[in-house]
Amino acid sequence: MPADPGIVIIGASLAGAQAARALRLDHGYDGPLTLVGAEHHLPYQRPALSKGYLLGTTEAAELDVLDPRFYAAQDVALALGAPATLLDLDGRRVKLGRNVELPFGQVLIATGARPRRLRVPGADLDGVHYLRDREDSERLGAALRAASAVVVVGAGWLGCEVAAAARALGVRTTVVDPLPTPLYHVLGDRIGGAVARRHLDHGVELLTGDGVEAVLGTRSVEAVRTVAGRRVPADLVVVAVGAVPRTELAEAAGLRVDGGIVTDGCLRTSHPAALAAGDVARHRHPRYLKPVRIEHWDNAVVHGTAAAATLVGEPVTIDHVPYFFSTQYGSTLEYVGLPTTSDRVVTRGEPGEPGFTAFWLDRGVPVAALTMDGQTDGQDAAGHLRALVAAGHTADPRRLADPGVPMTELLPHAPTGVS
Ligand SMILES: Cc1cc2nc3c(=O)[nH]c(=O)nc-3n(C[C@H](O)[C@H](O)[C@H](O)COP(=O)(O)OP(=O)(O)OC[C@H]3O[C@@H](n4cnc5c(N)ncnc54)[C@H](O)[C@@H]3O)c2cc1C
Repeated sequence: MPADPGIVIIGASLAGAQAARALRLDHGYDGPLTLVGAEHHLPYQRPALSKGYLLGTTEAAELDVLDPRFYAAQDVALALGAPATLLDLDGRRVKLGRNVELPFGQVLIATGARPRRLRVPGADLDGVHYLRDREDSERLGAALRAASAVVVVGAGWLGCEVAAAARALGVRTTVVDPLPTPLYHVLGDRIGGAVARRHLDHGVELLTGDGVEAVLGTRSVEAVRTVAGRRVPADLVVVAVGAVPRTELAEAAGLRVDGGIVTDGCLRTSHPAALAAGDVARHRHPRYLKPVRIEHWDNAVVHGTAAAATLVGEPVTIDHVPYFFSTQYGSTLEYVGLPTTSDRVVTRGEPGEPGFTAFWLDRGVPVAALTMDGQTDGQDAAGHLRALVAAGHTADPRRLADPGVPMTELLPHAPTGVS
């Protein structure tokens, strides 16, 4: 029998490392396994880059996805600082840089995403920052410590976290976003409004319903001009307007790409030798009956693990309820579900206050939920909320709203018929 050419994983980050771990430890895969990474670091976690690592309270060693000894101990070859430049799927080989070629039997593409660029005049001035990698976080942390005023462009999860970090460092902070509230596309106006109040309470100037028209300055940032004509002085601008999947390698290889590498529910792409996982993958999700691309830490872990199962010929359809966490002003926000259609929002506790929870219902069925400091009642609120959404049954809005009803008892035993 010909020797197993093995598996190559392109993208040495969360999804890629989880796949390597699961291949070796969960499935006992013992063929050749190589993790290829454009960055020089061992796989690391990104969430702290906009929180503790940015603030200097989290050490670099705490970012490791896996114990650094794992790779040698489990015979996982590492090609770090070696971006894959060409993927030849029919020839079953990947090129790293100019001269190195790796053969494979199967390849997993986990190339993640990169920040969407701000396309306005002045966007290339010194002092305009993006945040994706460790180095970005180190540069931004140093710049924030020296800054007097920062404008954060975009009030999504990342923008909100950067604003909170900037305030923790005592920097005057303005957030600009064209939508009516922070996180509007996820939380809507009522709960987004509660998030807005927390930022305002911590001294952030919020310019919602407005956009950045130009970054002003001669060599470096001096101010930002908004569409509404405001001039906001700043020596630093942080752009947090979303991320785009890094699909160029896959596209050039002829894979089907449509807002991410298109996969089935088991992460198989349009070529039998290739899978995709993590931020770059747009997988068919049976719960949502459509392909979804999810930029969450949890999703990358689920995908990495599931990709390993598919790679060893034991595919499982991914049907998880998405989960996202965020830390802002010392509070943890946890969101389960996806912002799909909902016709009603039910709240338990005062929105914006620790312990509050919001439920999004669609015809009586909870489809998403947000909880803030959900551990304060001694329960893993997010876990129960996830189970509630996963159940997909109608729930009694009065019980959802009643803090006296434990989260453990929210799961309906049978459909209640509430509509
Ligand atoms: C600042 C920040 C804060 C975040 N905070 C949270 C949070 O609080 N909660 C949460 O749930 N999620 C958070 N996330 C999202 C979460 O970190 C991502 O969903 C997760 O990192 C995705 O993992 P991934 O492995 O798919 O992709 P990535 O982590 O993006 O890794 C992809 C890797 O592939 C490499 N690569 C790309 N192209 C090539 C190539 N051609 N050859 C070789 N390597 C290549 C890249 O350099 C990168 O190292 C945050 C993300 C960022 C950036």
